[in-house]
Amino acid sequence: MVAKAIKEHGEEDADSILESLLLYNALENSPPEQDSPPEQSSPPEQCYPPQQQQIDSDPFSSDYEGSFLDGFSDLDSSDNEEINPTSEEEKKLMSLVNMGYTELEASIAIERCGVDSSLVDLTDFISAAQFSKAEDAHFPLEEKPRRLHIDDKKKRKFCEYAMSKRKKKVGLGNGIIEEDDDALHLPNPMIGFGTPTHLGQIHRSLPEAATGPPYFYYENVALTPKGVWNTISRFLYDIQPEFVDSKYFCAAARKRGYVHNLPIENRFPLIPLPPQTIFDAFPMTRRWWPSWDERRQLNCLQTCIASAKLTERIRLALKDYDEDGIPPERVRRYVLYECRKWNLVWVGKNKVAPLEPDEVETLLGFPRNHTRGISRTDRFKSLGNSFQIDTVAYHLSVLKDRFPNGINLLSLFSGIGGAEIALHRLGIRMKNVVSVEISAVSRTVVRTWWEQTNQTGNLYHLADVQELNADRLEHYISTFGGFDLVVGGSPCNNLAGSNRHHRDGLEGKESSLFYDYFRILDLVKGMMARYS
Ligand code: SAH
Repeated sequence: MVAKAIKEHGEEDADSILESLLLYNALENSPPEQDSPPEQSSPPEQCYPPQQQQIDSDPFSSDYEGSFLDGFSDLDSSDNEEINPTSEEEKKLMSLVNMGYTELEASIAIERCGVDSSLVDLTDFISAAQFSKAEDAHFPLEEKPRRLHIDDKKKRKFCEYAMSKRKKKVGLGNGIIEEDDDALHLPNPMIGFGTPTHLGQIHRSLPEAATGPPYFYYENVALTPKGVWNTISRFLYDIQPEFVDSKYFCAAARKRGYVHNLPIENRFPLIPLPPQTIFDAFPMTRRWWPSWDERRQLNCLQTCIASAKLTERIRLALKDYDEDGIPPERVRRYVLYECRKWNLVWVGKNKVAPLEPDEVETLLGFPRNHTRGISRTDRFKSLGNSFQIDTVAYHLSVLKDRFPNGINLLSLFSGIGGAEIALHRLGIRMKNVVSVEISAVSRTVVRTWWEQTNQTGNLYHLADVQELNADRLEHYISTFGGFDLVVGGSPCNNLAGSNRHHRDGLEGKESSLFYDYFRILDLVKGMMARYS
């Protein structure tokens, strides 16, 4: 299989090779149909994907680079699919992965220690390997160059500070157990402190240093390389992340972690509640939805979409089975694999299609056509990176009674304005908004929305968070009398699940902008303390 995949894609394109291997594997593992010989049940050879899907590339789009890989922020077929390990090895592998180790770490440990070793032995082996890796990291940089992209000495100092904190083993509430510095167990169900439909915890106590002013709200993808969330929460005053999957709010999954110092009592949702299933959101699809596609919710909405070539291949793969109704299992597996991966919906007989940008806007809680007027590529990209409004609004709702006259907002990495729209929909007036966003295209989207909605406050735009210094903040704070809320979700490009090329963790080029969030928040906090 590997040889075949390499022959198809060449040796360099690891992503495509892996993709094909997954596909071959899915096809290989499906038992031949009882009622028809395998040759007949296979669609014509050329129907099968083997090539990597292309996004609709747009050479005139801004910020195009990297958008393909950004997409897989938290694609997770486990939302729809149960995986049942059968062999002892698979069971151990799964237990280790569930404990927070990577698949690679787990399989090396099983290989080295033997499949009969106990889980304790296996975790010991992995810890020892991690320990020796950490020791390596203490060599001076000149002796042992590492792939870090830290921009300045300050960021490095932050990292050392975070590393120096002692290991602990504590129950953190909120369903999260931290067993050591690295392994963080994501809660299941991923409802954080609760959702409108799932009751959760109603009280928490925050570390002293974490309490406002200002209130702050930081967001990033839940599934990051190990250790990332521990570092984030250590910088953000030791507050534990609230992990929430937006599938408990709307018809699409979106697993995110939120570190914030907001109260959690008396939250309320935006009304009307958005559609919770695909059929509620897109009733037209029901007519074409085959019985063997059991999806009722979508996976995470991505920054890019499937090509027309892929949807045509799917149509061809299915059309031979029109007469008999249900296609053979291997075809079904192939189709479902692609449907889940690319969030395809049924729009005609044997015909699947990706969602349109306005449909994505609706699912994410944005006004329809919010991003209209920019390139299609930019629409998918900015929407794929944005907040899910209902989720974020639920968390921010506690501000409504606390600020009846409105708030001053510092919105970092504003994108297409997820935070601003959540506040607006909650009926919280924005007196002054300083919005920092590097993409001119996204800034225009927010400016247009601001004007369209007749906001009565002031919107100030800046481009680069790295240029937001103490003098500027001091100026804003003295002019407005302080910021009430600092919101931001820094880029996840080096953290997100399937970004196999640049998954450098928090020290990656874009992801290290988290440290700017912390730097700015800490400056504001210091200034606010002096003001009050
Ligand atoms: N929460 C936002 C999107 C966050 S995605 C929303 O709801 O739409 C991260 C954003 O950070 C992207 O829009 C990206 O363009 C922006 N960004 C990247 N580098 C930046 C920088 N140096 N300064 C400001 N914004 C930046």
